[in-house]
Amino acid sequence: MLRIAIQKSGRLSDDSLNLIRECGISFISSSLKLKTESTNFPLEILFLRDDDIPGYVADGVADIGIVGENVLVEEGKQHLTVEQLGFSKCRLSLAVPKATEYKSVADLEGMNIATSYPNILQNFLDENGVKAQIHTISGSVEIAPSIGLAEAICDIVSSGSTLISNGLREVERVFKSQAVLIANEDLSEEKREILAKLLFRIHAVQRAQKTKYIVLNSPNESIERIKELLPGIKSPTILPLAEEGWSSIHSVVQEDAFWEIIEKIKDAGAQGILVVPIEKMIV
Ligand code: ATP
Ligand code: ZN
Repeated sequence: MLRIAIQKSGRLSDDSLNLIRECGISFISSSLKLKTESTNFPLEILFLRDDDIPGYVADGVADIGIVGENVLVEEGKQHLTVEQLGFSKCRLSLAVPKATEYKSVADLEGMNIATSYPNILQNFLDENGVKAQIHTISGSVEIAPSIGLAEAICDIVSSGSTLISNGLREVERVFKSQAVLIANEDLSEEKREILAKLLFRIHAVQRAQKTKYIVLNSPNESIERIKELLPGIKSPTILPLAEEGWSSIHSVVQEDAFWEIIEKIKDAGAQGILVVPIEKMIV
């Protein structure tokens, strides 16, 4: 049995639970429970505050966990990272009131800066040779300047709308974060085997999320050109259509290259292009 710690309720919770479910791992969850066991995979799930997850995994209370890199690095436990998961992307940024003049990091010299991430911020200031006073507060960092507690803040930003609504301006990006899977460094052989199985499934889910299945019709004389444009898993599947001189081509394309490829294959003569999501992808 492997124990995973995930955030009980917050910005990581839904995506963490979805990832586990997409790996085909079933469990009964209730918002009141702190612990649940999968009904079809040797996994026990603990629901915790995100800040406690790195410590519990380091101590072996949980074997693995899902947490934001910002929390992990702040707690100095980045060595536990096994895998970046690609969700809960955000950044830690420095922001100052709109009216504050700011040209470079040197302008932070001597300022009072409020943050929940004193270690990451201190590192950034040291790297830039700036001396400032850090005020560590646990929440509502964005209101610190307006109540006179600080002249700048260092806080999590995703769209930037919270900063704007508090009259602040983002001036430096300090740290980029996403959710990561972490693991205790001293897992038993049995637990390592379960983790390997889980990782195999996570990779299949991640690959599928990054790719689309594409089906199209092509005049036979365009097949060679279209094949070159479609870098599939191995090579595309080509099947003759009932209509003489036409074939159906099936392949897999990367999500990020997708629009560019579609345009090129249309220009090459493709018709009836279907793009279908892939649920799992094992290579
Ligand atoms: P807890 O009650 O568990 O301590 P919290 O309030 O500290 O929760 P959340 O706000 O739920 O934490 O954020 C959890 C993690 O999600 C953050 O540490 C960060 O990695 C990520 N995160 C935070 N804000 C955003 C955002 N706006 N967009 C994307 N990811 C975010
Ligand atoms: Zn927290």
